[in-house]
Amino acid sequence: MGDSQAHRGVGVLVVGDRVAMVARPDELERARPDARRIDCNRGLLTPGLVDSHTHAVFGRPRYEEQEMRAAGVGYMEIAGHGGGIHASVRDVRQRAMDDLANLAEGRLRRLASYGTTTVEVKSGYGLTLDDELKLLQVIAHVAQRVPLRVIPTWLGAHEIPLEWREQGDAGASYVKMLVNDMLPTITAQHLASFADVFCEPGVFTTEQARTILSASKRAGLGLKLHADELEPSGGAELAAEMGAASADHLAAVSEEGIAALAASQTVATLLPGTMLFLGRPRQAPARALIEAGAAVALATDFNPGTSPTVNFPLILTLGVSQLHMSAAEAIVAATVNGAAALGLADQVGQIAPGFSADLALFDCEDIRELPYWYGDRRCRGTWVRGETCHPTSAPIS
Ligand SMILES: [Zn+2]
Repeated sequence: MGDSQAHRGVGVLVVGDRVAMVARPDELERARPDARRIDCNRGLLTPGLVDSHTHAVFGRPRYEEQEMRAAGVGYMEIAGHGGGIHASVRDVRQRAMDDLANLAEGRLRRLASYGTTTVEVKSGYGLTLDDELKLLQVIAHVAQRVPLRVIPTWLGAHEIPLEWREQGDAGASYVKMLVNDMLPTITAQHLASFADVFCEPGVFTTEQARTILSASKRAGLGLKLHADELEPSGGAELAAEMGAASADHLAAVSEEGIAALAASQTVATLLPGTMLFLGRPRQAPARALIEAGAAVALATDFNPGTSPTVNFPLILTLGVSQLHMSAAEAIVAATVNGAAALGLADQVGQIAPGFSADLALFDCEDIRELPYWYGDRRCRGTWVRGETCHPTSAPIS
């Protein structure tokens, strides 16, 4: 899919953990007559989907907030009643690691059952040194238990914790603690590949985000940013300027932000499931981003408050039906560009010689069917590094 072309009547030869050859079955047969064969039965084989933005480690679901929103209660009002992220923080703090790991394992396996083989997972429901460490240790632990490729991100700057807000802190002292105490502990234990900040008016300002990201970069972490979700605040520009791997959300990105992303290597990661679930009419300007030359990725934003879905192909549906992307653009956004958003563009996201054998098989004849059968689970199996990730129902001989 690197060239976004679908090839008919070809197969993939996997040797060890990598793709060795993509060719007609008779050519593969000649190259390796002894190879074990999996008949894809004319299905659609894609690179395993790369979900580059999730908050998959959490405790209880927050279904009551969906009804509250439906009844007209606003996001800030829900947060004011101790709901929103604060509710997940309270819940996660009192749960044991084992409990969180078991919940996360089941959820990641469900993600795999829809075609995802690489998943980024953020901390951010702890917001104390010990609780953020606990979440990152859960992510590391679960990564050993599931076959998916798991990329950990430290999101200590997800929200200003209530106990700090109650002391009148507008973030300054909490940011100091993040940079001086939490970040060095997390990097010393090698628990995160990326640092992320929720940059939005009322949460962390652009300047606070700059402080946290600068320190994280010096500490050797890759950078991500929750940027311009509800209001344009210069988040996209900051992400581009700092060389972040991705700027995520972007439903309210400005013209300047679009231009900055287009001129940078920073991937614009769009999360249309979130806007759908929140009932918001405004989606990120995918077409303007693509036409300006930005690399656009799609992701689920799987989380208990604003996007409780493990169904990545459904996000492709929204990419086409709401973001006006072509099916090929949406699939590239969920593979090649998702990989770039995780710094893995030379390893996963393409079916090409030398790439990791991370594959997904769908019950479709045409790539346009993947976003078309919306909400359906067409995935028949996934593989990571050539090994079964989600069990395939395809016959093996
Ligand atoms: Zn998020």
